[in-house]
Amino acid sequence: METSKPHVGLLPLPGMGHLIPYLGLGKLFATHHNFKITIFLVSIDHSSQTESKTIISEMSNELCNIVQLPPVDITSLVDPNATIGVRLPVTMREIVPAFRSSIATIMPCPTVLITDIFGTDAFSVADEFDMLKYVFVSLHAWFLALTIYTPILDKEVKGEYVHQKEPLKIPGCASVRVEDLFDPLLDWTNQQYDEYMRAGIRLRMSDGVLVNSWEELQPKTFAALRDDKLLGCVLKSPVYPVGPVVTQSDDSSKSGLLFDWLNKQPNDSVVYVSFGSGATLSHEQMTELAFGLELSKQRFVWVVRAPTEKSGDKAYLKGRSGDENHDQFGYLPKGFMSRIQNVGFVISDWVSQVDILSHPSIGAFISHCGWNSTLESILNGVPIIAFPLFAEQKMNATMLTEEFGMAVRLEVLPSNKVVGREEIQNKVRKIMVDKEGHGIRDRVNELKYSAEKALCKGGSSYRALSELAKSFEARMQLQNE
Ligand code: UDP
Repeated sequence: METSKPHVGLLPLPGMGHLIPYLGLGKLFATHHNFKITIFLVSIDHSSQTESKTIISEMSNELCNIVQLPPVDITSLVDPNATIGVRLPVTMREIVPAFRSSIATIMPCPTVLITDIFGTDAFSVADEFDMLKYVFVSLHAWFLALTIYTPILDKEVKGEYVHQKEPLKIPGCASVRVEDLFDPLLDWTNQQYDEYMRAGIRLRMSDGVLVNSWEELQPKTFAALRDDKLLGCVLKSPVYPVGPVVTQSDDSSKSGLLFDWLNKQPNDSVVYVSFGSGATLSHEQMTELAFGLELSKQRFVWVVRAPTEKSGDKAYLKGRSGDENHDQFGYLPKGFMSRIQNVGFVISDWVSQVDILSHPSIGAFISHCGWNSTLESILNGVPIIAFPLFAEQKMNATMLTEEFGMAVRLEVLPSNKVVGREEIQNKVRKIMVDKEGHGIRDRVNELKYSAEKALCKGGSSYRALSELAKSFEARMQLQNE
């Protein structure tokens, strides 16, 4: 008798950086296990809604159904200046009734709900409809460790973390340096601290936690997460390293002016510059970066976004409508565009980053160290010049340079101070020209090999995904009996 396959419902946070790994995960379950996948899209405003839906629909290749949930209005619930660390969890709480209504109409009802650390309020809907409840942490194991351990640090550490003299200790894991802490942990009186702690506590209600990393990349941290004497007593749910989950390059999209230009450049000769899906730079920082690139005398592709008052997450997820209001690239230094004509390519549209990174001409990546960008860089063997801006990116930058050895770091933190042109020039040349760059390139290629091994049949992430698939099928069978 033919038994039907489980139906997996994915509820990611709004924003392309969150959606992309969920789409990748959905595609893995659809292609490897033939599961039916529905992605429930949450948007934070109308502009992000249209953009995300278009891009995700194009990327999904019809392997995943896309359900757009109606936008929720949180203006009466949050301060107008509320940070993304507040707006995201509040949006995810407010979306629950719409998510419930949608689930009630879907046949067959999903067997499993997989959501983000801030999406666990939807677990009440999963319980009502007898679904399994999983969290997919689209970041790495060290971030998960800090998230589940924060409620304990909250009790143990006396005084605000920013005033600590020593790094924060997490059992069995690397300690987190105070200067690398991200916004929600910097001020206990801010709502985003409570939201982050709440997320860490609610993770324990899940049937399991998927992580966008792989066993061999972070062996010590995964071991600590499972060890009852370390973090296993905090998070009892099983942990599944299923990564690196990224969307794959689709050769058909490698056309247009940019790829015509890249095709003419020698291998490993171009620096790719991008700060992810939502971050912007200040005008001053943008000017220094432009001159730094010019001074480096290296070829480059720069995905620019119109500058804001300050660097970081201030404009994150507020849409990119600012771009159209400027003369095209009028915010770049005078004469820059004509001076770089033969060596640089500047673009402000959404581009397929995986297509760029997989192009043989790309030799380095100036990146904000967003986790998707990091994974995409590893899978394409491209070393990083770490330019962290916000969220957990400072932790990532530390891990990439000190633990993985695949990146160089700037002398100053771009979130604290403008990085000068000479510093940018030096770091670009360090990777592209100096001998040190060769070692870093070799190291990133070792990581690439390790990632590919984890993903292929019999590899650690492949096995973890198969184990999960079996649990979903067992649940489905129980429901059918
Ligand atoms: N991305 C892209 N084109 C762009 C900007 C970003 O394809 O013009 C993709 C990129 O490949 C990555 C994601 O958007 O998958 C950004 O995620 P990341 O975690 O690096 O940063 P975030 O956007 O969350 O800050």
